[in-house]
Amino acid sequence: NEERSLNFIEEIIEEDLKEGKYEKIVTRFPPEPNGYLHIGHASSICLNFGLTQKYNGYTNLRFDDTNPTTEETEYVESIKDDIRWLGFTWKEELYTSDYFETLYGYAVKLIEKGLAYVDDISAEEMAELKGTPTEPGKDSPFRNRSVEENIDLFSRMRDGEFEDGRRTLRAKIDMAHINMLMRDPILYRIKHAHHHRTGNKWCIYPMYDFAHGQSDSIENITHSICTLEFVPHRELYDWLIEKLEIYPSKQYEFARRNVDFTVTSKRKLLQLVTEGFVEGWDDPRMPTISGLRRRGFTPASIRNFCDRIGIAKRDNLVEYSLLEFFIREDLNKSAWRRMAVLDPVKLVITNYPGGQDEMLEGENNPEVEGGEGSRQIPFSRELWVEREDFMENPPKKFFRLGPGLSVRLKHAYIVKCEDFVKDEAGNVTEIHCTYIPESKSGHDTSGIHVKGTIHWVSVPHAKTAEVRLYDRLFKVEDPGNEERDFKEYINTESLQVIPNAFIEADLANAEHGKGYQFIRKGYFTIDKDSTSGMLVFNRTVTLKDAWAK
Ligand code: ATP
Ligand code: MG
Ligand code: MG
Repeated sequence: NEERSLNFIEEIIEEDLKEGKYEKIVTRFPPEPNGYLHIGHASSICLNFGLTQKYNGYTNLRFDDTNPTTEETEYVESIKDDIRWLGFTWKEELYTSDYFETLYGYAVKLIEKGLAYVDDISAEEMAELKGTPTEPGKDSPFRNRSVEENIDLFSRMRDGEFEDGRRTLRAKIDMAHINMLMRDPILYRIKHAHHHRTGNKWCIYPMYDFAHGQSDSIENITHSICTLEFVPHRELYDWLIEKLEIYPSKQYEFARRNVDFTVTSKRKLLQLVTEGFVEGWDDPRMPTISGLRRRGFTPASIRNFCDRIGIAKRDNLVEYSLLEFFIREDLNKSAWRRMAVLDPVKLVITNYPGGQDEMLEGENNPEVEGGEGSRQIPFSRELWVEREDFMENPPKKFFRLGPGLSVRLKHAYIVKCEDFVKDEAGNVTEIHCTYIPESKSGHDTSGIHVKGTIHWVSVPHAKTAEVRLYDRLFKVEDPGNEERDFKEYINTESLQVIPNAFIEADLANAEHGKGYQFIRKGYFTIDKDSTSGMLVFNRTVTLKDAWAK
């Protein structure tokens, strides 16, 4: 790993450690289980887990499940799978809902200290009394209830005596505070709803601001890292911890990471799924971790990407092509090479004996010493080659096939195009070649040099496969910019299915989760839809950056 300078959170931690403030660094990753994790979350995961790996400490996984209506157990499981797959291990698996009783006690403590009250005004009235950033707000008529009355009303709220929205519990801070979030923020609201873990036990739920910092404190989190939109919440975070006299966790903010040509918002990604624009959360075009995994991205490529983009203090778009750079870098070193013809046309070697096959040898991985072994590749008189590797009237620098042109067949022989056959519609249906028996790869004594090498698959030995090629899911750089509905920017041609590609027979043994380079065509991985009867491959990425700006 190359040396890089410390990021601003590392600087803070090093300073804290130097001052002896903490013995252990404790962070948490706090997803709300209301969707699958995406590439933006990966950046937060790498940061939180990365810090406690680097400095002595640990990271908790905390499901931020204070909102009963949107959370589902399916999401909890997917989130755990994704974090494990990325290569991180959490210390404890925790749920904010496990703290509901403690949080209730904290609320009572605030009431007893005269720092919280039950309010009866409606949401509209509350908004009116809130004031504006330049004008102070006004006190609610219920602000000065006695401690006894507040305690009584709050316990009746808990007991389910009131319908949704009828009352709230608010912190009693300052209705003229310059920070609007400090103008008596709501701590609890009434919501008669089923919760995925606590069932119907509760009908009052803590607001984010009253749950998050308190949960951090309960877990003795030293550095609570969140995204920039929480900067104005920090004052309330500190106020609550101070007034409750609990462990002083500290909040630090970094910029959200968004990737160009996609959206990273669970709400938007959910719409893509429910409205059928993609097949599911793990559709290989999705920027979700499960989508990237299915597409063929490796954990290391995502970690390296997150490490490279680092953290920032200002929101910005990161280029998807940078993610592609890291997956190419990884797969170039690890992917085994195979041959597959995606748009086939038949090549017949007229001077090769019919009915004869021979086995050729091809190394698995030319990037490592020894090639990680090799595989046998059957060769015969009839081969499939790519249609685009033949031109009837080739231009000058076309180093592939055309009348009179010679080319090397990868791992095999040099062939020369002698003739070709067309159908009535004018499509080339066969290319006729002769081969040079002395030009066999590795044993070439022909003395002939050709510039081009093309891939091929033997017709009688080929297996068929469905191959799925992907393009960007959106046509514009920043589809989530809110100017128009992001769905208007969807690229309707983002999936191209090739139902009958011809692949080297050996690919029938392809392993799930492993990357293969289809020579000249890109990196591919086997899809979860694949069966022994119908192999299905996804293209992870092309060999070169086709989108280069
Ligand atoms: P979304 O808008 O997708 O719902 P969220 O922030 O509400 O995002 P959470 O489940 O609350 O999603 O996020 C868990 C953690 O991941 C939080 O600490 C959050 O700050 C962080 N996170 C979420 N999105 C990004 C992003 N794009 N870049 C960096 N960190 C992110
Ligand atoms: Mg959140
Ligand atoms: Mg959210």
